[in-house]
Amino acid sequence: TIQHKALIPATLIPGDGIGPEVVNAAVAVLDALKAPFEWDMQLAGVAGLQAKGDPLPEDLLASIRRTGLALKGPLTTPIGGGFRSANVRLREAFSLYANVRPARTIVPGRYENIDIVLIRENLEGFYVAHEHYLPIGDDPRAVAISAGANTREGSRRIARYAFEYALKHNRKKITVVHKANVLKILTGLFLEEARNVAREYEGRVQLDDRIVDACAMQLVLNPWQFDMLLCTNLFGDILSDEIAGLVGGLGLAPGANIGKDVAIFEAVHGSAPDIAGRGIANPLSLLLASGLMLDHVGEPEMGDRLRKAIHLTLNEDNIKTPDLGGKASTRDLTQALIQRLA
Ligand code: ATP
Ligand code: MG
Repeated sequence: TIQHKALIPATLIPGDGIGPEVVNAAVAVLDALKAPFEWDMQLAGVAGLQAKGDPLPEDLLASIRRTGLALKGPLTTPIGGGFRSANVRLREAFSLYANVRPARTIVPGRYENIDIVLIRENLEGFYVAHEHYLPIGDDPRAVAISAGANTREGSRRIARYAFEYALKHNRKKITVVHKANVLKILTGLFLEEARNVAREYEGRVQLDDRIVDACAMQLVLNPWQFDMLLCTNLFGDILSDEIAGLVGGLGLAPGANIGKDVAIFEAVHGSAPDIAGRGIANPLSLLLASGLMLDHVGEPEMGDRLRKAIHLTLNEDNIKTPDLGGKASTRDLTQALIQRLA
């Protein structure tokens, strides 16, 4: 008799723009891999607003509460109507405090052999967005004020996540990124807690630090000096796009949002409305995110098979979507990946 592994319930969010195209591609490839997911499809973003009157419908939240696991296409925040970013709300709703963004060379381009993992604090800093204007004279918006907040507990929690990740993935060095020479309190506290946590890992994982501006430059000049980056929310947002650029751009950049009880996997890119519906979106960011999801549920061999198929399809079969300089459609690339897995 055949022994069937139990399926793992997971929420599937097609999202907006190119979302449904890349999500369909990812599901087809995961099916070919015989990945153990049992999908619960849920709408969000503009699609959620149109179908259920909310960019983050209660059905979606209930599904994620139940599964603790999601694969998510990009969500557009509807313009007007005063909606806050659906992505930010989703992170907050499930306290997804860690954003993990690996950047690894798959197609040799401007740089080769890049292998950096960026860990971004996902809930604090300037993203709390306590913003307001102050009036001067008859100008009600003469001054713009924004306050960030980093908590000691939040800083410690993300630092500990980074060190545990390093141990688990056999990484040796973490560079904490800050601006403690100017934002002495906000980013100084983050740096201080990273150093405190580092003491618990002495001799196993090394910690050094960079001021964000210097780090941005050094990533261009000599990215190979970096192993892992530990960043506050805003700096992590910026530098994760930079490291995506080092390895071929947004079409190859996966991300994971991790909390205590819930993990949501996504492409780093947005909904790309300029190419939506044209069948040329690159599904590999979301597929690489699916690979992270397989690692997360304890199927790293399946994740490796997926990564290997992606590598061979790009480099041996030379099948690439236009963003990588090729002529293949989303469908061509998906079929080629499925062939490689057969
Ligand atoms: P959003 O408002 O949802 O963030 P955006 O306009 O900022 O959307 P992004 O999705 O962030 O667009 O993409 C920026 C650029 O990169 C766009 O020109 C888009 O076409 C391109 N791009 C992004 N993702 C992909 C992809 N998966 N395949 C091909 N091109 C992509
Ligand atoms: Mg964008």
